[in-house]
This record gives sequence, C-alpha cells and structure tokens, in this order.
Amino acid sequence: MGRMAKPTELKELSDDVRDFLGDLTDWNLDVLELSELTNGRPLLVLSFAIVSHHELLLNIYCSNQTFSKFISRIEAGYLKNPYHNNNHAADVLNGCHHFVQVFGFKDVITNHQMFSLLISAAIHDFEHPGVSNNFLIRTKSSLAVQYNDDSVLERMHVARAFAIMQEEGAQCNILKGVSNEDYVSIRRTIIETVMMTDLSKHLDYTARVRSMAANQKSANMTNASVMLQIAIKSSDLGHCAKILPIHLKWTALITEEMYMQGDRERIMGLKVSAFCDRDHGDIPKSQVGFFTFIVNPFFSAIVDLDPRFEPIKTAVLENYKYWKQKFEGDKVMRRLSSAKLNTMRLIAIKETEKKEEKVVVVVEGEEGGEAKVKVGEKTKE
Ligand code: AMP
Ligand code: ZN
Repeated sequence: MGRMAKPTELKELSDDVRDFLGDLTDWNLDVLELSELTNGRPLLVLSFAIVSHHELLLNIYCSNQTFSKFISRIEAGYLKNPYHNNNHAADVLNGCHHFVQVFGFKDVITNHQMFSLLISAAIHDFEHPGVSNNFLIRTKSSLAVQYNDDSVLERMHVARAFAIMQEEGAQCNILKGVSNEDYVSIRRTIIETVMMTDLSKHLDYTARVRSMAANQKSANMTNASVMLQIAIKSSDLGHCAKILPIHLKWTALITEEMYMQGDRERIMGLKVSAFCDRDHGDIPKSQVGFFTFIVNPFFSAIVDLDPRFEPIKTAVLENYKYWKQKFEGDKVMRRLSSAKLNTMRLIAIKETEKKEEKVVVVVEGEEGGEAKVKVGEKTKE
C-alpha cells in the first residue's frame, strides 16, 4: 500500500483502506488494523469518510480542508497511551456512526446533532494523560485544580478541543460558517455528549435508563438527546461488545494503561488503585468485576429501552462468559496445582458441578504422573 498524502477527498484513499472501510456499517471494524493501514491516522480517515458519506460539511458550511486540519490537530493531540489514544477515539467514532446509520438514529436526529455526535466521539478523550480522574484529584494535579475535581478529564477534553477550533490563524474552525444560534446549540450538544463519558456518573445513568425503559419507552427513543447519550456511552464501552479477538486486544491495552498508572502510584508512595497493580493483577477477575458492575447492567437497561441493542447485549454476554470461564478455570487450576492426578479429577468435577455456567476442566495424564489441566475447552454434557 502506498503512503497516503493528506486525504482531503475520500477517493484519495488507497484501495486497501477503502475496501477495509467498506460501507461504514461494520460494528466490528478493527480500528487497530485501520490504524496500521492508514499510517496511524484512523481518526482522520474514518471521520472524513463518514462526514463525506452524509455530506455533513455542506450542512455547516465547512470546507474539506478546514475539517481535515481540525481533525488532524485533534488526532495529533492524542497522546501515545496504550488505550486512550487516537485509535480509541476512532473506535468510539465508528461505534457512534453504527448507531446513527445501522440502528437508524439518523431518522430521528438532525444533521447538526449527527455532526455534534461525531465530533464528540472524535474529541471525547482528547489529550488524555493516561491516568484516571481519581489519580489527578489524589495527586492534586493542576488539571484537578483547574476543574475543581469535577469531571476533570471530560471538561479538559472539550475545552482543549474548542481551543484548537478557535486558535488564531490555524484555520481549524469547523464551526465558523454556522449561525450564532447553531453554534450555541452544536457546542452545547458536544459538551453534554462528552460529559456523558465520565464513568463516575455511569451507575446513575444506568438507573436513569432503567427508569426511562419503565416509563414511556417509545417516547424516549424518539428523543434525540437520549439517542446521543446512548450512542456515545455504548461506543465508549463498545469494545466489550466486539468479537472476542478485538475485545481481547482492547482489554490488553486498557490493562497496560491501568498498570502504568499503578507503577506511577507505587513510585509516588501512594496506595495503588484497584485493578492497577501489575504485581497482583488478575485480568479475568477484573474483567468479571467490570462486566458485572458496569457493562452488563448498562447494556441490559439499554435493551429494555431499545430492543435494537439486543445483538450488542448478546456480544457483551459472550465476552462475559469468556472471562467468567477463565476466572473460574484459573481458580480451579490454582486449587489443582499441588494435587495429585487422581485427586485432581475429583476436585475438578466437584468445582465444575458447583458452577451454573459449567466451566469444563479437563485433566489429562497417567494416574500418579504429570497432569495437564485444560479449562473451558468443551461444554459439559
Ligand atoms: P473513557 O475514559 O472515556 O474511555 O471511559 C471508559 C472507561 O472505562 C475507561 O477509562 C476505563 O476506566 C474503563 N474501561 C474500559 N474498558 C475497560 C476494561 N476492559 N476493563 C476495565 N475498565 C475498562
Ligand atoms: Zn473513551
């Protein structure tokens, strides 16, 4: 594949990239692979493809060049963190567009709202430092001071992105052509949408979705701002609903980023945050916790509100099952590690019979000899 110059038109993309993007509807688009295909510019390429497809720039009187300049600055401003980087931004953008296009949100939201959602996705972790809000607050960072400990990162992402837009002479102002009234409304929508990604508000939001589902289900799913909220939240947690090989890649990346935060905490003499300790890390256990308390309840509530999300929930539950099996299997393995082969079989059978989800432990080998333990390879009859 030839190296790409600045793509200002979709037709300038290489055939490989165009084939890879397809018709822009693939929930399981592997953005990490797109990143390689585009020399590390998946956000520019994907956002350009999407806004061109919907002719959104005409709608806000923005030139291709200004849009490309703005998104290029945004993409370059993402730090090279393992997880919170331009690839994650492109992944969330792809997710949001999926709901717009495939789930039909575009039939309810206006073009300005669609544009606001896509920009929100692109900027939603802009300049993320690779550590959590809590870390910034605990370490009395200047960002926490600036934003009074309240949604520190999320406020920073939006503020810095708008600063780029308005930079003198940078020709990045994608909203220069819209009326004052439209500017106010697009800006408000972007702020509100990015604010939704603060995970400390997640449980409250899940409860809100549950109550929306209980009351006036249909009315809520014709409410454009509810759609934008659901689109960004579902996309931000979206890797948990991707096919397993993709989900595993993102999980390895977020885990490494959390471990890096833990390393910094250890050096600073602080208590290492939950899930951030690489010396005592247990990824399956962390994932079971993350799915049980954060991911599963959220997608269950969303499906109650909007049944179109059923396949997303199914994918989440598949991944949950994978982690649960791994977690239970590891527990069995730990218990088996010092037992002899003949007793291993007994322990394995007892352990697996206790489990609702039927983790299968296969113990192989000669009695009294070396044992091989395999987990979760067969389903129990
Ligand atoms: P954001 O920071 O906007 O990307 O919000 C999503 C948050 O979800 C991240 O900051 C992580 O803390 C968390 N998260 C996402 N995926 C995982 C995962 N697989 N395990 C644990 N936490 C996760
Ligand atoms: Zn994010």
